Amino acid sequence: MSIKDSKTFCTAPWMHLHVINDGRAYPCCMTEIVDELSVGNVKTQSLETIMNSTKMKSMRKSMLGGEPLPDSCARCKGREDAGFSSMRIGMNDNWYSQVQDLVEKTKEDGTIDELRLLYWDIRFSNYCNLSCRTCSPIFSTSWTKDYIRLRAHDDKLETGLINLNDQPQFWEDLDKNISVAQEIHFAGGEPLLMPEHWKLIKFLEDNNRYETKLKYSTNATKLEIKGKNILEVWKKFKNVHLSLSIDGIEDVFQLTRHGGDWNETRKNLIKIRDSSVEYWIHPTISILNILSITELHKELFELDIIPNRILPSESESGYGPDDYFIKRFHINPCVTPDIYSIHNIPEDIKKIAEEKINVYAEKCYKEYGIPKSGWNSLINLMNSQKCNMDVFKRFVDTTKKLDKIRNQNFIAVQPLFKKYF
Ligand code: SF4
Repeated sequence: MSIKDSKTFCTAPWMHLHVINDGRAYPCCMTEIVDELSVGNVKTQSLETIMNSTKMKSMRKSMLGGEPLPDSCARCKGREDAGFSSMRIGMNDNWYSQVQDLVEKTKEDGTIDELRLLYWDIRFSNYCNLSCRTCSPIFSTSWTKDYIRLRAHDDKLETGLINLNDQPQFWEDLDKNISVAQEIHFAGGEPLLMPEHWKLIKFLEDNNRYETKLKYSTNATKLEIKGKNILEVWKKFKNVHLSLSIDGIEDVFQLTRHGGDWNETRKNLIKIRDSSVEYWIHPTISILNILSITELHKELFELDIIPNRILPSESESGYGPDDYFIKRFHINPCVTPDIYSIHNIPEDIKKIAEEKINVYAEKCYKEYGIPKSGWNSLINLMNSQKCNMDVFKRFVDTTKKLDKIRNQNFIAVQPLFKKYF
């Protein structure tokens, strides 16, 4: 068996890095953003130093030694245990062959002699037009005001604009390495609104690097930015993929993705559907929307935004039923922050959600042949831990305060929770 097929091996530590707006670096975006799991900081270290930091070396060493996945990989492991695919599997499928030589030449202590960052995930800033409930000021400038008023958090997060603009060494490093980058993932904040995103696009255009794959995690609320239509820009690139962060329709959308407008976003989704870019819907499923997730799927399915057919771009690469919950409706179950986790939903409400999802999944399967696997995995994950009522009480408390600050009403959107409020 090739090491690529081992359940405790991941290609990411050889060719990828996730850098967030305050400079902290992580093996990938699945690693929880806590100081203990950070592998370095681009504000004080070069990319080369970070890729051979003690933590990165130890990660590679333990993977090559067949040891269990490290703590930083808990989310991939959790997804796989619940029956979902994982970023680890995708990393191995998509990238291993391009770094096999690097893996084989890795030194005994985990050191690699070459910086081959094929896939970048750099969050240049937290600039964002929305303040989604499950997010925080670290990833959204729009959260600052509410965060200060909320004062529900014990920790004191940095607020305001956080970015990597004044880091000449980092930008030099990017400049040196961009020629090997095959894929760049833009996320945020809202990447389409960030000047740094446009700076990199200009660089790619000026250097005729239209082969570089562009990946985005976007809220799809704005496609026209300062007179530029991003759909027109994307036409020039060979490969563009969008992960569309949409958690609900109408009042659920307005509640979860605060600051966005459902009707405008719906129009944008239709424009994206009619463009040539690839995309998947990436709903974050939390306590806020678990009871409404089937309505989101239904609406997008009926609008053909989630097509139930093989697209021309997929006809050669092969598309099977197992791909539905990867390439169409890419479920992102929320487990942090804990107050929004699908684990910490009262058990009686979990039952109602489970029944509703099962009925809908059965209907989709019978009528359209849509597999049930993703729905089942979601239910499995939700039920894999009992609700912690102390955490749930914090959710109630925060929700009441946030409702007041935002002039919103969670109970009007999700009335089944009324008895707990
Ligand atoms: S196993 Fe998952 S969390 Fe760990 S480095 Fe790979 S992709 Fe990231």
